[in-house]
Amino acid sequence: MKTSRRKFIGLGTAALTALPFIKSCAKEEEEAIVKPIVVSTWNFGLEANKEAWKILSTNGRSLDAVEKGVQVPEGDPTESSVGLGGLPDREGKVTLDACIMDEKANCGAVVCLEHIVHPISVARKVMEDTPHVMLVGDGALQFALEKGFQKENLLTKESEAAWKEWLKTSQYKPIANIENHDTIGMVAMDANDNISGGCTTSGMAYKMRGRVGDSPIIGAGLFVDNEIGAATSTGVGEEVIRIVGSHLVVELMRQGNSPQEACEVAVKRIVKNQPENSKQIQVGFLAINKRGEYGAYALQKGFTYAVYSPDIPNTLFEAKSYY
Ligand code: ASP
Repeated sequence: MKTSRRKFIGLGTAALTALPFIKSCAKEEEEAIVKPIVVSTWNFGLEANKEAWKILSTNGRSLDAVEKGVQVPEGDPTESSVGLGGLPDREGKVTLDACIMDEKANCGAVVCLEHIVHPISVARKVMEDTPHVMLVGDGALQFALEKGFQKENLLTKESEAAWKEWLKTSQYKPIANIENHDTIGMVAMDANDNISGGCTTSGMAYKMRGRVGDSPIIGAGLFVDNEIGAATSTGVGEEVIRIVGSHLVVELMRQGNSPQEACEVAVKRIVKNQPENSKQIQVGFLAINKRGEYGAYALQKGFTYAVYSPDIPNTLFEAKSYY
């Protein structure tokens, strides 16, 4: 999605040094960058963007913006797919996955973390305070407690009741866009042209104990390359992992595709790999590039995402879809 202000984009660097006229075009290109910008998945992206915007609009860092932004659905007990109130695995345990990545390719992740409301902040601590990228399960919990996070019960009465109802049939059939999944993935570019991203989820409802999806895996659920842009994903994580989806989207942008084109190619790769399966499930990608352009695409209708920039006052869109 481009605005008319970006008409000079596309001139090569070699040409830019050749002619004074083209040099002035380069200046306009610089000015045409839309920033800051933040985009995030699903309807809860609107509230999350608002929080992120407080930081981005006051010259803050995109890393802080994405952390604070995704904390909003994490802390909301009425959201049944992220953080507190997330639907549990088939044994009734709420296990959370999250990752975060900054403009220098620093990254951190927690996987199958229990009892902590804000896994995104634990992921950030992994990134900043350890020599590692990922901590899993009990080790992630131990680390979080050492860092001062509080141990809490994340299973709300509503989620427990829904799980008990599910136990009656115990059928694991993720249904596209129905509230048994939905991750918040958020990517942002700040006023200093630095891009960061965060991704956090309770994963697929009623998953097997120990199951991990795409969301906490750098390259699958989230990827940032500050020269190019960033991407995040939502939906059935197994399908995203198979194509290393978010990394693929960023690499497609590196090859010259717009964020919209890159998201479309990635979704089509899933269709090509799993044509029958792809009709039943949802996967969506959302991306921005270094010019502040954004794009999104999904397998099925119904994937919504929120965009906030100087051009677009926090607005919810529905992505185009393959089916
Ligand atoms: N991608 C998440 C997972 O596979 C779930 C979702 O986004 O709906 O765990």
